[in-house]
Amino acid sequence: MSGVLLIVAAPSGAGKSTLVNALLARETDMQLSISHTTRAPRPGEGEGRHYHFVSRAEFDASVGADAFLEHAEVHGNGYGTARAPIMAALDAGRGVILEIDWQGARQVRARMPEAASVFILPPARAELERRLRARATDSADIIARRLAGSREEILHATEFDYLVVNDRFEQALDDLRAIVRAERLRSLRARRLHADLLHELLESA
Ligand code: 5GP
Repeated sequence: MSGVLLIVAAPSGAGKSTLVNALLARETDMQLSISHTTRAPRPGEGEGRHYHFVSRAEFDASVGADAFLEHAEVHGNGYGTARAPIMAALDAGRGVILEIDWQGARQVRARMPEAASVFILPPARAELERRLRARATDSADIIARRLAGSREEILHATEFDYLVVNDRFEQALDDLRAIVRAERLRSLRARRLHADLLHELLESA
């Protein structure tokens, strides 16, 4: 494995997707993992673009076949990350971003200790609530559930390697890019990249 594996989690409404999309636009050797989910597509969401939308039976079959690197139940729906495309990308030296919840992050950390995990925090509770209510596509009932879920998610923030506060967008994006940059320089990854250089520096005269 040589590509950076970056886990990004946040409570709903922290601005995670916008930040991740901006990161992907700038870090062109990174790709987003497309999760499988049993939830219904929201307006504007396309199959294979935002998620792979699957039935509960298909989801359970993937769990049974151990095809997921991680999977979890979130807001009553199944979510999972297919293992094969991630491994193929990392082996090819590409970076992969996993936008998953704290339960999935725990599983990935346990299976792939070289993964770096980031938790994105909103700047204040009032701002989190404002952002959630501004999402016109969700019903009041769903918003209430997401508000309750956000507290549960934030309870696990300190399990992550990095905390980024999304107050000023450009600053938060800069922080994310700094994390990616630092992860690329990690010795475990860089020693393969710089094998020739290390060899040359240690060669006896
Ligand atoms: P949404 O349905 O709003 O797109 O996502 C709801 C929650 O599920 C978010 O916290 C998101 O990070 C999480 N999620 C999305 N995909 C996955 C996945 O593949 N695995 C896990 N564990 N969580 C996921």
